[in-house]
Amino acid sequence: MKIIILGGGVVGVTSAWYLTQAGHAVTVIDRQPAAGLGTSFANAGQVSPGYSSPWAGPGVPLKAVRWLLMAHRPFVFRPMADPRQWRWLARMLANCTSAAYDRNKGRMVRLAEYSRDLLDELRAGTGLAYDDRQQGTLQVFRTQKQMDHLGDDLRVLDQYKVPYEILDAAGCVRAEPGLAAARDKLVGGLRLPGDQTGDAHIFTQRLAAMAAERGATFLYDTTIRGLRREDRRLTGIDTSRGRMDADAYVLALGSFSPAMVRALGLDLPIYPVKGYSITAPIIDATLAPVSTVMDETYKIAITRLGDRIRVGGTAELAGFSTTLRAPRRATLEHSLTDLFAGAGDVPSATFWTGLRPMTPDGTPIIGPTAIDNLYLNTGHGTLGWTMACGSGRVLADILSARKPDIAYEDLALARYRA
Ligand SMILES: Cc1cc2nc3c(=O)[nH]c(=O)nc-3n(C[C@H](O)[C@H](O)[C@H](O)COP(=O)(O)OP(=O)(O)OC[C@H]3O[C@@H](n4cnc5c(N)ncnc54)[C@H](O)[C@@H]3O)c2cc1C
Repeated sequence: MKIIILGGGVVGVTSAWYLTQAGHAVTVIDRQPAAGLGTSFANAGQVSPGYSSPWAGPGVPLKAVRWLLMAHRPFVFRPMADPRQWRWLARMLANCTSAAYDRNKGRMVRLAEYSRDLLDELRAGTGLAYDDRQQGTLQVFRTQKQMDHLGDDLRVLDQYKVPYEILDAAGCVRAEPGLAAARDKLVGGLRLPGDQTGDAHIFTQRLAAMAAERGATFLYDTTIRGLRREDRRLTGIDTSRGRMDADAYVLALGSFSPAMVRALGLDLPIYPVKGYSITAPIIDATLAPVSTVMDETYKIAITRLGDRIRVGGTAELAGFSTTLRAPRRATLEHSLTDLFAGAGDVPSATFWTGLRPMTPDGTPIIGPTAIDNLYLNTGHGTLGWTMACGSGRVLADILSARKPDIAYEDLALARYRA
């Protein structure tokens, strides 16, 4: 089948890889000059099935008020005169119940675990390297209250047989020796040994090159302007290079997905949630993290990527703004220097922002639509890197009329009509 993939981020490129492997003639279109230059460019680098959780959870509305008042706040809200922002917020709040949290976390963990296994397979089968490490995540708690709230998460981890260890402060330092000087700031931690790390941008570019070697076409510097529909089918897309057509289309435009299909009558519950990262060269490897350390207080991930430290976090509801804000950088620097003082060259760190394509329930949207030949692989929010391989493979299986290896019906857009 001839398939056009709209968007060459980590999700579009993994889709291209698995669809090419399944024997389809694939073309990926992106407005950027190369793959992985959107939100996939400088994320926190976690491949974290164990940490896969929706942001909507019991107690989150109250916590959000507290976060807004913190000097180094993990959450920033810029109210806008955009009904989509308010509608998305209302839908997210509706997911802040225990039942919804368990259901949503279960879906995310299922897909993320599958995705991590496929990533292992891909590395083993192709030798693909991307500053990757397979040494787990350590979530560190600075208060007893944070540790006491672990119950809900552990229940789902047990249900999906995700291994974990609960550590005291000394155990955290054993797992991450760079934390030694910060030991007294920690109460304990949750270690998720099955988690991994890696540079999503390097991965995306190298996988795109491998897919191209196997026959996929990548059209960069090409802006998609609109989709053409006749009855229940797409008949083509309009781009800055003219009209193009295919048998089937995969929408993988991240935060820009809803606007592309709104005129077709499709309502995608995805809203951009802005995040920031800094990337600092390592100056003392003995003081740097071994893998990812998740600073629960500030909701910041600190990850070793080769000879660099990536620090990522902040959830800012500010529409499509990509302004780099100095206070957000200060928060990332604070978490890094507080836990890993002397590890990185902080003043020379690069500063970046990206828009997470978030659904209200935290789970991506993968599968068919009411338009027969239009498929979705979008809305990956906080964990698109973690879930990319699994999402690409599930989508390729659906398009190839093969039964996916994991349950997939509840990942489709139809769950929002239920
Ligand atoms: C600060 C931060 C930290 C994060 N940390 C992690 C993490 O540690 N682990 C994790 O798993 N996830 C993380 N994420 C989330 C992850 O980065 C995203 O979920 C993922 O990158 C989404 O990938 P995507 O391919 O859907 O979107 P994108 O990478 O944004 O790709 C969409 C593509 O569509 C293209 N496009 C858009 N509109 C058009 C158009 N009209 N015409 C042509 N092309 C178009 C864009 O150029 C872009 O390349 C983080 C995100 C942020 C912001």
